[in-house]
Amino acid sequence: MRCHLCLGFSWQPICENCLNTLLAPTPSKRVLEDGLVVYSFYKYSEISKLLHTKHTYIGAKIFLQLSKHAIFPFLEPLKNQEVFALPIDDHVRSGYSHSAVLARGISEYVKPKYKALRAKNKFRYSGQKLSLRKKQKRNFKLTCEPNLDVILLDDIVTTGNTLMEARDICNKSKINVIFAITLADAKEN
Ligand SMILES: [Zn+2]
Repeated sequence: MRCHLCLGFSWQPICENCLNTLLAPTPSKRVLEDGLVVYSFYKYSEISKLLHTKHTYIGAKIFLQLSKHAIFPFLEPLKNQEVFALPIDDHVRSGYSHSAVLARGISEYVKPKYKALRAKNKFRYSGQKLSLRKKQKRNFKLTCEPNLDVILLDDIVTTGNTLMEARDICNKSKINVIFAITLADAKEN
């Protein structure tokens, strides 16, 4: 196949060269209003084209590549710890869930708890105005045993409301959120 970015020949949707140059991750840290720390690896604008593939067949492969390339090495310090990954609302659209794919990419270091954190509100966020998104609550339902240490996982952080809401329900269920991970930060100033 051809590389999604440079159109050169590649066995994967993104070639090694593009991964190591255009997609060299730049980890950044953001602290949300409730104190939750979020680590991201790209600016939204840097990978928006790739994020838009998320509901396509090729998108699953791209998300897995990005997870292994950018997130996995960052989590190495957790490899011998009992920490679990909680993908946010990993319900399946178009055949796969993008946050579950991200979790799969790091599963060697942090064990995924698939389908544990589901939104009851099926509001479609992408393409909606910020003011409208802010008003929406996901109304998460958490099905997970208590007393676990977890990291939250999502593709993008924008306002941080979704992650804070997720942490809130974890707290109420006695699940300790250590920090959150997103591929991209789309902070809107
Ligand atoms: Zn390439």
